[in-house]
Amino acid sequence: MSDVADGIGLEETRALAERYLMSTYRRAPVDFVRGEGPLLWDAEGKHYLDFLTGISVCSVGHCHPDVVKAVRVQAHQLMHVSNLFYTEPMAQLAERLSESSLGGRVFFSNSGTEAVECAIKVARKHAHSRGIASAEIVSFEGDFHGRSYGALAATPGLAENAALGPMLAGFRSVPHNDAAALREAVGERTAAVLIEPIQGEAGINVTSEEALRTAREACDEAGALLILDEIQTGVGRTGSLWAYEQTPVRPDVLTSAKALGGGLPIGACVTAPSCADVLQPGDHGSTFAGGPVASAAALAVLEIVDDPALLRQVRELGAHLCEKLEVLAGVRETRGRGLMVGVGLEHGIDAAAVGADLLERGLVVNVPRPDTLRLLPPLVIDSDHVEMAVDLIGESLLGFTTG
Ligand code: PLP
Repeated sequence: MSDVADGIGLEETRALAERYLMSTYRRAPVDFVRGEGPLLWDAEGKHYLDFLTGISVCSVGHCHPDVVKAVRVQAHQLMHVSNLFYTEPMAQLAERLSESSLGGRVFFSNSGTEAVECAIKVARKHAHSRGIASAEIVSFEGDFHGRSYGALAATPGLAENAALGPMLAGFRSVPHNDAAALREAVGERTAAVLIEPIQGEAGINVTSEEALRTAREACDEAGALLILDEIQTGVGRTGSLWAYEQTPVRPDVLTSAKALGGGLPIGACVTAPSCADVLQPGDHGSTFAGGPVASAAALAVLEIVDDPALLRQVRELGAHLCEKLEVLAGVRETRGRGLMVGVGLEHGIDAAAVGADLLERGLVVNVPRPDTLRLLPPLVIDSDHVEMAVDLIGESLLGFTTG
């Protein structure tokens, strides 16, 4: 590939990044220059099997031809006009998202955290309409909802960073899956319960059916909204288009982002009809959001993912992956659903060291906590890719279990 040959290479890229980028990330020493399907190539030409997909973004694989084509065609035709006008891809995407989920209206954003900001505004304004001036939003400890101040306030672990304070008021949390504490926390002042169906950043912790049911019942009793953050679980990741479809509850609002754009930045806050008209002109906006190119990409992604055969395969491959992983030396448990898998390692094994070793061996994974590997492979992998990943993880773990 000529673009690979023309690149500046890892050392120069790293030097530039360390000199000019804010130090908000600890990056692995790899300079990726190309992707195709489940594979990535670095600047030295080494290839990797990608079981992270840019943190559940490239779910249809890297540079899927249908997504590339949709982007190319749209980029030639119209890239941006703002939200002061109608554009066809945005309207069509809104229809597709609404009709495939809650049936109300959609607000587009450029990221997950902004989709959550919109959901918070919907919840607060909805509460105001019920006469609650200083309403509260309740989340679970371990939840991750984003890094902007609203979403941050709903992300208990990060909201404790006093150096970034003061935080937005009106948020509280209870221990994950503690249904009794959740019921206790939801009352007259509650605007919404905002939770993840499966906690992703915390290491793949499935929210129990009991907790979800309790959240739904408590919201119904209090007149509050149930907001499910499907930014990581949505768009097919768990083997249904939305994770809530495999649970006993239906939310009033859902947030999506990550995989929605197939690699381009787009998020969405989708409402049920009951709260579809809460936000009115002047309440919210975004210059770029839902632009033609990102929307065209998202339409192509949904065309690929919203397919019963693909979603069944995600469930089957996910189950197969977990079965294979669970018998490996060094693996304590697997957690998750579909192709959203957390691999809990035996006590004493440093997951960060395993993650770094796997990268050396050519498998990209992530380490959300010291005892867990997170696997978020493309939804379009086959059983050969599963075997390859399991073999690499097994070989790597041997080095950490035999001393
Ligand atoms: N919500 C969840 C569940 C997420 O996993 C993330 C990102 O990891 C976000 C919100 C924030 O999304 P973004 O990084 O696109 O702002």
